Formats: sequence, C-alpha cells, structure tokens
Amino acid sequence: MHAEIVMIGTELLLGEIVDTNANRLALALRDIGLDLYYKTTVGDNLDRITEVLDRALDRSDVIITSGGIGPTVDDVTRQAVGDATGRKLVYSTELEAEIAARFSRFGRPMADNNKRQAYIPEGATPLTNPVGTAPCYLSEDVNGRGCIISLPGVPRELDHMMENTVIPLLIERMGGIKITRVRVLRTCAVGESNIDRGIGDLMTEGNPTVGLAAHIGQTDVRITAKADTEEEADTLVAGMEEKLRERLGVAVYGVGKVTVAEVVGDLMQEKSLKLGVVDTLTGGQLARDLVESGYSDLVATDLAPANLTEALKDSGADISDPTDVEEARSLAIALAERVTPPGGMGLATIGPYEDSSTFIALNGPGEGTILFERSRNYQDSDHIRRWLVVQAFDWIRRTLLGQMKSPVDWN
Ligand code: ATP
Ligand code: MG
Repeated sequence: MHAEIVMIGTELLLGEIVDTNANRLALALRDIGLDLYYKTTVGDNLDRITEVLDRALDRSDVIITSGGIGPTVDDVTRQAVGDATGRKLVYSTELEAEIAARFSRFGRPMADNNKRQAYIPEGATPLTNPVGTAPCYLSEDVNGRGCIISLPGVPRELDHMMENTVIPLLIERMGGIKITRVRVLRTCAVGESNIDRGIGDLMTEGNPTVGLAAHIGQTDVRITAKADTEEEADTLVAGMEEKLRERLGVAVYGVGKVTVAEVVGDLMQEKSLKLGVVDTLTGGQLARDLVESGYSDLVATDLAPANLTEALKDSGADISDPTDVEEARSLAIALAERVTPPGGMGLATIGPYEDSSTFIALNGPGEGTILFERSRNYQDSDHIRRWLVVQAFDWIRRTLLGQMKSPVDWN
C-alpha cells in the first residue's frame, strides 16, 4: 500500500504561502510506515485538480488532499474528487444539520454558501471535523482504484484530523503499523559524487534504503528501514550502517544532528588541546562555529590581518609577492606556528590572492605535523567561506584521529 499527497491552493502553487502542511503530512505517514510516492501541488482549478487526482488514483492506493474544501467558489476540491472517483455530488441533509449545529455552537449565523459544504461525493464517508466547519470525507473510486481523503488547508484543522481520524483509519487499512527507523551518517570533505561512487550499489537496495543529501562541504547518508517491530528495524539499520562505514571509513564524522565543529571541539576538549587561529578567509565563521559548539579553549591571537607582515618580520617569510606559491606556503606555515599555543595546535588561513588562491596551514599537535594546502576557487561568498571552514575542521579532525592519510580518503 502506498500513498500520495495533493496540496491544493493557488497561493501555495505561486509560492505566496509556504506549504507547511505537506511537510507534516509526509512525516505523519512516514511515522506509521506508509510509503509516500508522490506529492503534487495544484492551484484552485477544477480541471487540473481532477486531472491530478485521476492520475493519482491510477498509481496510488491512498490519496490525501489538503485545502479547497471551504465554502467559497474557489473551493473546488469536492467537485474534483467527485469527478475523479466517478461519483456525482449529492446533498446530505445530515451534513447540513451538522454544519448548522456547529455554526450555532460558535454563535455565528450560517451563510448560504456554507450549504455548498453539505455536498459530498455519493457514497463517501464523512469524517467529522470538530475544529472547523469544513466537512472532511473519504471517497472510494467507483472503479476500485483507491480512495481519496480530503482534509482542510487550515493547518490546525488538518493536524487535528490527521492525528485523531486519518492516522487510525490508515493504520487499520494497512493492517497494522510499520516501524520506520531513520539514521543519518554525516560525512564531510568528500564530494557527493565520490560518495556516490563508493556506495552507489547499496543505494539501489529496497529495505533499508540509502539516500544522499549534499550540503556545503558535507554529504549526509540517510538509512531508512521499515519493519514490523522496532528490533527488526534497528537490526536492518545497523547492518546497513556497518556496510556503509566499512566503505566510507573516516569520512563519516558523526551520526544524527551533530556538526563537524562539535566533533572537532569535543576531540580537542578530550585531549585538552588549545587551538590558536589566524583566519583571514572565513570572516570569523571558523571561530564562531567552534565557540558555538561549546569548545572553550580557543586562543585569541593578536594577529589582525593588517598586522601579518609586521608579525612575520622575524620569521623570514616575505609577503611582498603573495602570488608566489612558495612564499605563500612559508607564510601560512609560519603563521600557523606562530599562533600555536604550547602543546596545542595552530591554524592559519590566508588569502585570497589575485589568482583566487587561498592557503591553509595546520601545525601540531606535537612535533612535525604540518599540513598545507592551496586551493584556487575563492570567491567572496558565504558558500566558499563555509566550505573552507569544513575543510579546516576536517583536517583537525583527521589529524587528531591519526587518519590524515586514510585509505578511503578520496580527496
Ligand atoms: P477554508 O474553509 O478556510 O477555506 P480550505 O480547506 O478551503 O479551508 P484553503 O482555503 O485551501 O483551505 O486554505 C485555508 C488557509 O489555510 C489558507 O489561506 C492558508 O493560510 C492555510 N493553508 C492552506 N494550505 C496550506 C498548506 N499546504 N500549508 C500551510 N498553510 C496552508
Ligand atoms: Mg478555502
């Protein structure tokens, strides 16, 4: 059994209001293990809604609509559901009485157009909506293709209907709840296409499924398993996680909501390592991320970018021709060494130079750990700054794990 959702409303289609209903509907279905295959958004247009519903009935067992069941002329969901399921609309005096009773409870007069809401597809099951006036209903396709459940667009009403009526009804139709377990492995500093190459074959398996989501400098690997019991679902997830970790190795920096800054902060805190930073590239983002992660041993440096030349006088580095890679290299390394607190680590990011080069150097911990990298794609953008921050954090992380040259390092 699988479902699809159809979001109805011209304001939604045109982006004038943000579709928050679809999000919650999808999560609610996921939580009971009902597979959601499609989501469509369509404006308040009878022909187009009917077309969407007709196609949905061809390919899905349960269709949930949101919106367009109010009393106004542009609320055409009822008619479209009737047309798609092959049922004419019939007037229900019971529904009319229910609507009238609700209005009198709210102490408001019932307008004539509210009577429109007393029409429902013939044979449909009304679903009581105690928080609003729009009647909800479930209509079976006359040709047995599936059913359509129509819910209000008003978020509060939709939520109430889902929780109290629709979810229990769906569980009954499914013959019991399915447990869904999701686990997200976070990776960084390995491109999405590299990840794809490494684990592509595992992404075609059915249960658990594996999917990727790319962010700046990071790729999430999501494992989703479904089963009848929690234990079974957990076992499925764990089995897949083991396979993925075998392939991805140190590229996985954490699980769930954790950030790479938090992981790095924890690692340094564990080893009581202080970090000194001189950073001309990320607009302070690097330090901010670390501080926000709870790391408290960041060493402030007196090296404002303007003072770099002055500060390096005694190191012998010459900044006069910064596009000279060798010069930039010795400058970055000298700076990283200069900001390293005793027994700690030092990180220097310098640039950008005229040819868009940037340089990062990391010093320590301990003797002789000096890493250096030049990259050449700098633009003054939030994207690049964040990317650089992730790169720098990942260096620190791998260095502290002793895995700077890991066999699964695809970079
Ligand atoms: P009504 O009786 O209020 O007309 P309805 O079922 O016809 O209810 P709509 O007219 O489609 O629902 O939507 C009513 C209001 O609910 C919208 O103006 C909007 O503010 C909100 N809404 C509708 N759909 C969504 C959605 N998908 N996400 C978030 N809010 C929504
Ligand atoms: Mg409406």
